[in-house]
Amino acid sequence: MNAPTSATEIRLAARPHGVPTQDTFDVVDTEVPTPGPGQLLVRNLVMSVDPAMRGRMNDSKSYVAPFVVGEAMEGGAVGEVVESTVDQFKPGDHVLHQLGWRTHAVVDANRAVKVDGSLAPLSTYLGVLGMPGLTAYAGLLVSAEFKEGDTVFVSGAAGAVGSLVGQLARLKGAKRVIGSAGSAEKVRYLTEELGFDAAFNYKDGPVAEQLAAAAPEGIDVYFDNVGGEHLEAAIASMNVHGRIAVCGMISQYNATEPTPAPRNLVQIIAKRITIRGLLVLDHWHLMKDFVAEFAPKVAAGEIKYSETVVDGIRNAPEAFLGLLSGANTGKMLVRISS
Ligand code: NDP
Repeated sequence: MNAPTSATEIRLAARPHGVPTQDTFDVVDTEVPTPGPGQLLVRNLVMSVDPAMRGRMNDSKSYVAPFVVGEAMEGGAVGEVVESTVDQFKPGDHVLHQLGWRTHAVVDANRAVKVDGSLAPLSTYLGVLGMPGLTAYAGLLVSAEFKEGDTVFVSGAAGAVGSLVGQLARLKGAKRVIGSAGSAEKVRYLTEELGFDAAFNYKDGPVAEQLAAAAPEGIDVYFDNVGGEHLEAAIASMNVHGRIAVCGMISQYNATEPTPAPRNLVQIIAKRITIRGLLVLDHWHLMKDFVAEFAPKVAAGEIKYSETVVDGIRNAPEAFLGLLSGANTGKMLVRISS
């Protein structure tokens, strides 16, 4: 293959106030970077867009540094090694790394993980067999302390993480699995394709009423991807000794003012509810167990996954904006090259 001569990257043009727009991003053509000692030149094939990237667009202190205005953004990507300065990687190897949002990346070899496209499609290392899958696994089993017989409610249920939480709970012997999502088609997907016992469209009416109808005997676990009204509804439907794993609060990521708290927090006392924040980075040591358990089930079709794929690096902003407005079912990805 001839050496690539031109590259494209997506930079953060400006920090968004509220909902990001196309103006949040700059699409910039640039030169292919050159790897130094200990580095790889990687031609990216597929990249992830994730809700957490919205947080990194803000100039606020968090568990990862904010994106820098005027610089290429970062995120999970899988690519092919084009040049390598280290023995462990050869041209043609496929690697998972954190320098997405660009066609070509110079990656420190010690920050690249080899992945095998013959074992599973390369895109799955960004979704069902990657970070979102581990989030679902650790979040349900560790953070929410799921046990057989629990009734589980998950919001954002048709998304990358939520769709796996519901299926895992089903496989592990949940009494009842309930999901919420933002369209009739997603609700159908949950009940007819993923085996959820019940699902509802949170846009159809008050979440508390819809959840109470779907869970007449209450819930034992709530896996929160959304926050706000969903969290309040889950507290209201929670059984005694219920557990809430707070994974995400996407309904609040674009808020420009502090958002109201659930108005029923006092119920935490009588119901002895445990609410635990969940950060997937804390559970990285479970990756091996998770893949060992998930990969065969995915291969056998016992765990299903969807991907919504947007084509072309120049359309990566559109993919990200679509993620925030529910354009995806399952994992939202950008195909950069084939
Ligand atoms: P998803 O694939 O679930 O995509 C995001 C979805 O959120 C959209 O498809 C949309 O679906 C839904 N959504 C958007 N706005 C709203 C809203 N106002 N109210 C309700 N739903 C909304 O993303 P992921 O699976 O990657 O992430 C899910 C959640 O998990 C996010 O909150 C994310 O931040 C969090 N997360 C946390 C991690 C951690 O370590 N704590 C790790 C990974 C993810 P719909 O059509 O249903 O509205």
